[in-house]
Amino acid sequence: MGSEPHIVLGIESSCDETAVALVTSDRRILAQRIASQEAEHAPYGGVVPEIAARAHAERLAPMLEGVMDDAGLELSDLDAIAATAGPGLIGGVMVGLVSAKALAMAADKPLMAINHLEGHALSPRLADEALDYPYLLLLVSGGHCQILNVEGVGEYRRLATTIDDALGEAFDKTAKILGLGFPGGPAVEELACDGDPNAVPLPRPMKGSAEPHFSFAGLKSAVLRAVESGEHKPADIAASFQQAAVDCLIDRLEKALSENGASPSLVVAGGVAANQTIRAALEQLAESHAMRFVAPPLALCTDNAAMIAWAGCERIAAQAGELQSDPLDFKARPRWPLDPEAESVRGAGVKA
Ligand code: AMP
Ligand code: MG
Repeated sequence: MGSEPHIVLGIESSCDETAVALVTSDRRILAQRIASQEAEHAPYGGVVPEIAARAHAERLAPMLEGVMDDAGLELSDLDAIAATAGPGLIGGVMVGLVSAKALAMAADKPLMAINHLEGHALSPRLADEALDYPYLLLLVSGGHCQILNVEGVGEYRRLATTIDDALGEAFDKTAKILGLGFPGGPAVEELACDGDPNAVPLPRPMKGSAEPHFSFAGLKSAVLRAVESGEHKPADIAASFQQAAVDCLIDRLEKALSENGASPSLVVAGGVAANQTIRAALEQLAESHAMRFVAPPLALCTDNAAMIAWAGCERIAAQAGELQSDPLDFKARPRWPLDPEAESVRGAGVKA
């Protein structure tokens, strides 16, 4: 590897965010653009795959031109082109990946097909130079709820996953039940500020279970029953739901720590990591285990392209500068576990 930092273009289109970013191997985000599709999906209370794919296709090309202009770079200045190749909504993933292939071919640059989850898993290292491997990662998003031991680039050991809903999904469904709109996480958090977290008795699914995994479907159903009973204030339901979610997270993390041994750092990533109550609880857990707590800035927690470009930078570093291209016929993958060795569990997977 020469002394010049590498520059990687990243593209993200796996769910309802179209995002493009230029990131350097010395941790600079040269330019980035992100277009949310919230308005398009809001009338349906969730992401509609066909609408998402069309919106990515319409927006991506001008956004790509935009970031190159913002950074004042030409395609020839890039070292690699990285795109999310899965897991996610397949139509959207294909839009981003095909665009990356076209650019890689036109500019004769290596293509890096990045696992979206790997982007989330490594993004804390973009923001925090001092974060070394290994670290215990709680990945909590709209499509995933996992505990992973991140041992190095490409070395991820899954310790737990959800057997039904992801936590972000549970927040979104709770918001829908409470009539708060989409996306639900921030709305539930805001309403919860005015509520009593102990007012509504709600279950803590899997708490104390011998299995290491998460489950949130029963919690969501209990929220529905609490709303239908008409006995509780919406703010109390939101606060009690959030508290139940926190209790489940802490219980499962405690189990992961007790069974897999100590880790120097506890890291949280994914959209749900924006939640301040959850962050505070994780920080306390880390402190009680003498671990460093690392939470990336909010813009790096939700879906973004800087994390995809950064995963490309990490891969280049791990290849010791020998830039290897993924094949140009690399297929978009609706499912793509980070840890292929992990046993599959009931219902677990991407719903994004
Ligand atoms: P991602 O899948 O990483 O793009 O994250 C989106 C998910 O994070 C959605 O399910 C949101 O409802 C959830 N989310 C975003 N902000 C918050 C928040 N403040 N509290 C809880 N969940 C959130
Ligand atoms: Mg995501």
